[in-house]
Amino acid sequence: MHDKFIPIKEVTLKNNCPECFNTQGLRLTFKQRFIETQFYKSITADIKQEINCNICHSIIYPVQWTDDIERVVEYQKRAFTPKKTSRYLKKASWIIIGLIGLVFLAFVITVIYPKL
Ligand SMILES: [Zn+2]
Repeated sequence: MHDKFIPIKEVTLKNNCPECFNTQGLRLTFKQRFIETQFYKSITADIKQEINCNICHSIIYPVQWTDDIERVVEYQKRAFTPKKTSRYLKKASWIIIGLIGLVFLAFVITVIYPKL
């Protein structure tokens, strides 16, 4: 099973990086959780934000966010539209559903028409 957060949107921030104080490096990334199993693929409603600095290559964790960064993140959150959640079954699921259907049908036929 693959369970991963896929980047959906990236925003360049003009805030100072809390690590290197550069104003060119911060990138806010919105990620959405995707789940893929053998049987289905699913887009979930789980969203997370991550801030990275391209200059000093650090991940800026929420504890390091300044008030300014928090404000911008809040603003960007409101502007962000996540992908619609969805789930679709893969071929393996349909084959199993088909097999269960056949077994069920065979069962019903032998129970209802035992004399045939
Ligand atoms: Zn930095």
